Amino acid sequence: FAQTKEGDDLLSRRTRNFGAASVLFYRDPIEMVSGSGCWMTAADGTSYLDFYNNVPSVGHCHPRVVTAMSEQAAKLNINSRYLHQTTEEYLDRLKATFPNYLENIVLTCSGSEANDLALRIAQRATGASGFIVTESAYHGNTAAVTDISPSALKRGQLPDHVIAIPAPSKLTYGDNIAAGFADEVNKAALVLQDRGYGVAALIADSIFSSDGVFSNPRGFLRLAVAVVHRAGGLFIADEVQPGFARTGDAFWGFARHDLVPDIVSMGKPMGNGFPMAGIAVRPELLSAFCDDVGYFNTFAASPVASATGLAVLNVIRDENLQANAALCGKSLREGLLHLADIDGRITDVRGAGLFIGVDLAPDGDPANPSGQLVSDIINAMRQNRVLIGAAGKYGQTLKIRPPLCLKSSEVDFFIEALAKSLRTCR
Ligand code: PMP
Repeated sequence: FAQTKEGDDLLSRRTRNFGAASVLFYRDPIEMVSGSGCWMTAADGTSYLDFYNNVPSVGHCHPRVVTAMSEQAAKLNINSRYLHQTTEEYLDRLKATFPNYLENIVLTCSGSEANDLALRIAQRATGASGFIVTESAYHGNTAAVTDISPSALKRGQLPDHVIAIPAPSKLTYGDNIAAGFADEVNKAALVLQDRGYGVAALIADSIFSSDGVFSNPRGFLRLAVAVVHRAGGLFIADEVQPGFARTGDAFWGFARHDLVPDIVSMGKPMGNGFPMAGIAVRPELLSAFCDDVGYFNTFAASPVASATGLAVLNVIRDENLQANAALCGKSLREGLLHLADIDGRITDVRGAGLFIGVDLAPDGDPANPSGQLVSDIINAMRQNRVLIGAAGKYGQTLKIRPPLCLKSSEVDFFIEALAKSLRTCR
């Protein structure tokens, strides 16, 4: 018998298929059909400027990436147990972006797998099992990384071997973020030692994306890393968000802090949409771990992944995307600061390159943050054809993260849309 029209629409089918795990953007979800550069086009023909982007980072469907991926797919795609020229060419190029001592790269298919492996390596290296994270961090979806992802927790508490400390915000720590944050790391280390777990690692997203985007001052993380090293733990830099040139200042977010990570995890923009991720690690840490259990990942480091990743690195280099992120990021922040001058509900504008956080408070008092206002603005921006996200403990921060190939006309389009959205959300 014929199904009702209601049950046949895409949203109903989605809800039936995904069940409780369906997560959609917007009160009125969008069906997307194509993308190019910084834009996506919906099924009804409306084009949207993508300022939420953190995967197709060099631009939607970049022709060079698509060609490299599809040509390799037409030639050969296998698991990584064979020798392949492109894989080693890719890994040599990727390694050149890291400090020399991070000599080994292990590829995975998701940031979650990368962080999961990083945690296990840290536990093996230190003999400890405790982890220090920030209070609204997200590090992935395996059992182990869900345990260290406070933002994934809907109810209940973090397990005993994980301590969450306040994010490195000026509101919490005042002007001396470095000392205040390091002090919290120190206190957490003492608690973990007291509980008998010891400190395996401090793991931090070096732009603190889900915490609300905390990038400055440059170098503030260094003190916290020194503290964790003194406590016998490692520092894992989670570069899934800030990596691959997004901050404009450096190719990796940790490099802005001039520090020495023991393990770096990466993902999202690495394949511009092709699922690839991985870790860079000191060889002695990896060999100790592999002595016990070894590591193999069927789909990672395949020829198609390698060709795709290599094309992404080539595009970042050839199109000067790091410099563009710095330049467009600066004009974006200037536009936002101008809006803050005329609308007191914007209480802070911060960020690095094309990773920007903007705090909103209905009464202009940062002590009264509002997730509701941010949610209203995000939905109003959608009506004005711009896609952005939210971050922060209360969802009080607009998360602004356009593709790295952004143009100045698109910066203007965004600022006009935000000005209009602010006017309509009173
Ligand atoms: N780390 C960070 C900082 C992330 O933002 C994410 C994904 N949002 C992950 C790890 C997990 O990556 P994936 O979704 O590829 O497993």
